Amino acid sequence: MRYSQTFVPTLKEIPAEAEVVSHRLLLRAGYIRKLSAGVYTYLPFGLAAIRKVERIVREEMNRAGAQELLMPMVQPADLWRETGRYEKYGPELLRFKDRHDRESCLGPTHEEVITDLVRGEVRSYRQLPLNLYQIQSKFRDEIRPRFGLMRGREFIMKDAYSFDVDDEQANIAYQKMYDAYQRIFTRCGLQFRAVEADSGSIGGSFSHEFMVLAKTGEDTLAVCKACDYAANVEKAAIKARPVENQEPMLAPEKVETPGKRKVVAVCEFLGIRPELLVKTLIYKVTGGDGQQKYPVAVLVRGDREVQEVKLKNLLQAADLELAEDKEVFDITGVPTGYLGPIGLNGLKLKVVADLEVAAMRNFVVGAGEKNYHLKNVNLDRDFEVAALADLRQIAADDPCPLCGGELGQIEGIEVGHIFKLGTTYSASMRAVFQDHDGQEKPLIMGCYGIGISRIVAAAIEQNHDENGIIFPVALAPVQVIILNLGLKDAVITAAAELLYTQLQTQGVEVLLDDRDERPGAKFKDADLLGIPFRLMVGARLGKEGVVEIRHRRDGLTVELASDQVVAYLLNQIAVAGSAVQER
Ligand SMILES: [Zn+2]
Repeated sequence: MRYSQTFVPTLKEIPAEAEVVSHRLLLRAGYIRKLSAGVYTYLPFGLAAIRKVERIVREEMNRAGAQELLMPMVQPADLWRETGRYEKYGPELLRFKDRHDRESCLGPTHEEVITDLVRGEVRSYRQLPLNLYQIQSKFRDEIRPRFGLMRGREFIMKDAYSFDVDDEQANIAYQKMYDAYQRIFTRCGLQFRAVEADSGSIGGSFSHEFMVLAKTGEDTLAVCKACDYAANVEKAAIKARPVENQEPMLAPEKVETPGKRKVVAVCEFLGIRPELLVKTLIYKVTGGDGQQKYPVAVLVRGDREVQEVKLKNLLQAADLELAEDKEVFDITGVPTGYLGPIGLNGLKLKVVADLEVAAMRNFVVGAGEKNYHLKNVNLDRDFEVAALADLRQIAADDPCPLCGGELGQIEGIEVGHIFKLGTTYSASMRAVFQDHDGQEKPLIMGCYGIGISRIVAAAIEQNHDENGIIFPVALAPVQVIILNLGLKDAVITAAAELLYTQLQTQGVEVLLDDRDERPGAKFKDADLLGIPFRLMVGARLGKEGVVEIRHRRDGLTVELASDQVVAYLLNQIAVAGSAVQER
């Protein structure tokens, strides 16, 4: 590949619309271009990096016994109605009608389509187990697409679906995928962590996310410092503490708290710690049917945060959102900041509380009246809740739910997600098989996704510096860039051309920078593109017979006689590959 003939439109300016580093660098390095919100064209080098990921994914999926197929992107609404998801899925599902007025949608995922296929073909346990996968563009109509390939509307995904005769076999299939994912992300050269995760809108009994560790991660992970426990904070269970509180209950007392609306202000004014306050939050909830909308009051300790995914799961809601001040007033008649659980039972309002509230005694809540709070309030004596559950986000002082050890928090980008689905889809779609006892049983399913285009973005979030991308060798569009720094010098040009041919003959992917540009411009572009090895063929070749090789990752520069270059690079590429395998 000659740079002068390659379509890599690099940019000097930093694109204003790009908020995160991977988005900026993918645009600047000429890897992608935006067509419309969350929709991108992959330019040749961007596509080359994506193909690298796809190849690793295919090899490991095939090795794990999965078989590739390709399903349609346009899906009939009737299939989605069988599982109830046509209504439930929400506005991320792009729905439309064709010329015959038939309702359809653009596939954001393919559980319905694959289950429909398999129920039509699989009759007997003899045809199982089965694991089918595809690599395909998906469409999710995100309300606010952003961060380039991190959260686009159209993206490339690998999705796999397993079908088994029973739970035990399904767990084996799940473990196979878990192991395959470990190999995939290791081979991609990424630092990652598998964590326990929430099953979300896909449903099912348990799941793991694979997170690329990066400061700009969209997810926060709780990780035990003592044992192997790691979980998305959306899921991280709070270890139950003793609920017994022997403190005597005091008589409730109404106190004036003029203008004190925030937890901190109220606590300061009353001279109490936030651990003695319970805040009341109003959420607007969309029911599981996707239609019904109703408000819910949520109680948590003053210094805690509601974990909305946990709340959503408790309420089996399709969606929920914190109500704004005006909406709180419309629903309860109380200005925000003075809301409390007492009196809410009279309204048509479900009240739920975090488990911690049950262990609290004589706490402070809003009085349900402007400029007043209530002291010495107690659950059950003074008010009731419809449910007590683990509803808050795990905090720094919470112990590991497994071993009680200290937890730390790190940021991550989700690049893979595996789910044990059980019979969620096979039951509603009547996907059954005949077992060896002649009984008809529902298929036990699992599903397994990898965000192919997202991996490229995540790799950049994890591997970059102020000069550009630092691709892991396995994902770089090419492994070596040769800079011809003496375009008008016949000896230098001949040496660069010879190395170019020799490396290609050895199967190395190489870009020859044969452009008529200053050396400085060539250095800048080579760094920006993130190519792992830069070969500089210039004046020193003529004088000393020396070629310089610079490692993109650590800036290490070595000088070699030009006839040693090919062997050196082959060795470096092999070492990079094996180091990754061993990690
Ligand atoms: Zn632990």
